[in-house]
Amino acid sequence: MQNFSYHMHTNNFGIFDGRNTPQEMIEEAEKIGFIKIGISNHLAFHPNMPDQSQMFFSDFNKACDIYKRVIEDIRTASLNTKIDVKVGFEVDFFPSSEWRNLFEKIQKEIKADYYIGATHYLRDKTESYIMNLYYLQKHHELEIKDKDLTLYLNNYWDNIIESIKSRYFNFIAHLDVCKLFNFCCDPFWNDKKFEVIETLASYKQPYELNTSGWTKIGEQHPHTWMIKELCKRNVPVIISDDAHSVNMLAQHFEKAEKLLADINYKNRYCPIFNF
Ligand SMILES: [Zn+2]
Ligand SMILES: [Zn+2]
Repeated sequence: MQNFSYHMHTNNFGIFDGRNTPQEMIEEAEKIGFIKIGISNHLAFHPNMPDQSQMFFSDFNKACDIYKRVIEDIRTASLNTKIDVKVGFEVDFFPSSEWRNLFEKIQKEIKADYYIGATHYLRDKTESYIMNLYYLQKHHELEIKDKDLTLYLNNYWDNIIESIKSRYFNFIAHLDVCKLFNFCCDPFWNDKKFEVIETLASYKQPYELNTSGWTKIGEQHPHTWMIKELCKRNVPVIISDDAHSVNMLAQHFEKAEKLLADINYKNRYCPIFNF
């Protein structure tokens, strides 16, 4: 069984993200037999970010200060463990050159070990409207017209495609996380999903089999048919628990291993760090 995970969250931002401290996550990871881990809290930064809070930022300096503090906290917590601990971020990617320039600056400032590419936002073309999928219902979503929603969902897939092409990321998170909110489950969206598959293949971009969906909706991310198509194209895959608490570490890993074994998936990915 895969004895590592590079996608997990801690409580460094306060109330929103993980439930446990870095120390607790590291101790539990060691206890269950992981030999190496990466802690990847959210990096959700955009000049037009609507929800200002401990976790979502529009202010560059404030964001960098907090990310640096998070990294330092995790590095300190990892001093007394035998397992290898890396510090990364699960980054909300945006395709505009404005966002890319700022993200490249953030990378230089904070010097994390690795970055996971993610898309948790719906957006318009110009990125003046951006809305977190998880907060959609809380805000006046009923006001979104069907036509606009189709456009935003189209941008969701384009966002993933552009995140792959950016080559910023070690791997891409939960390709179809939108299905948690019942979006894009219709075959109408299969062309877009194939576009993502083909882009992952041509960029040889690793992606994750995210096990957290099994608890939430009874299915992993991405769909099994997508994993089969990605297997045919020999795209590297990594299993992620996306743990937000100690009891989610390695959750459903046996099931994930079985799924990969059943389709004879050979190309497994693990980040390699050169320091
Ligand atoms: Zn995520
Ligand atoms: Zn995550």
